[in-house]
Amino acid sequence: MLPSKFQQWNLSRMTEIITRSADARALAQRLWKFFEFQLQCRLPQIDKDKPSSFSIKIELFLQTHRPGDLVPELVIRDSPRREEALVHELLHLNLIVLGYPKFRIHAKDDGQWNLAANILNKADHPVMLPTSTIRKINFLALPDHQQRFCKALTKIWNS
Ligand SMILES: [Zn+2]
Repeated sequence: MLPSKFQQWNLSRMTEIITRSADARALAQRLWKFFEFQLQCRLPQIDKDKPSSFSIKIELFLQTHRPGDLVPELVIRDSPRREEALVHELLHLNLIVLGYPKFRIHAKDDGQWNLAANILNKADHPVMLPTSTIRKINFLALPDHQQRFCKALTKIWNS
């Protein structure tokens, strides 16, 4: 099956944002293919103070085991660090490809959900850095991100 115009458009908006790293652009393309062109990238102009994020749908995937049924969605906020945020969220998604476990959150309320989501997000980070370096999906073209990322990790380890 060939990608639809909408699917193609989602790839283009990602590759247009990633200007500083050919490796990161290749990662976007690879993930888009892995998820059977279902990877979506939204670029909202509102809620600039909220963090960028990704989400996946799990119900259908549990039955079919088709990566496309995860329908991953990236929400990348409008900020001067939009490129960096996009690559960061792509690296989160890449952990699925690498077989890193994802956990479902069953929460009683928003507070509990946020706490669990925050823990899971932080659990991804130490794994993301080595994969980004070893697999050359690197931040070398985005050195500012790597620096901030390492600082953030050091904080996690030391807390
Ligand atoms: Zn993250």
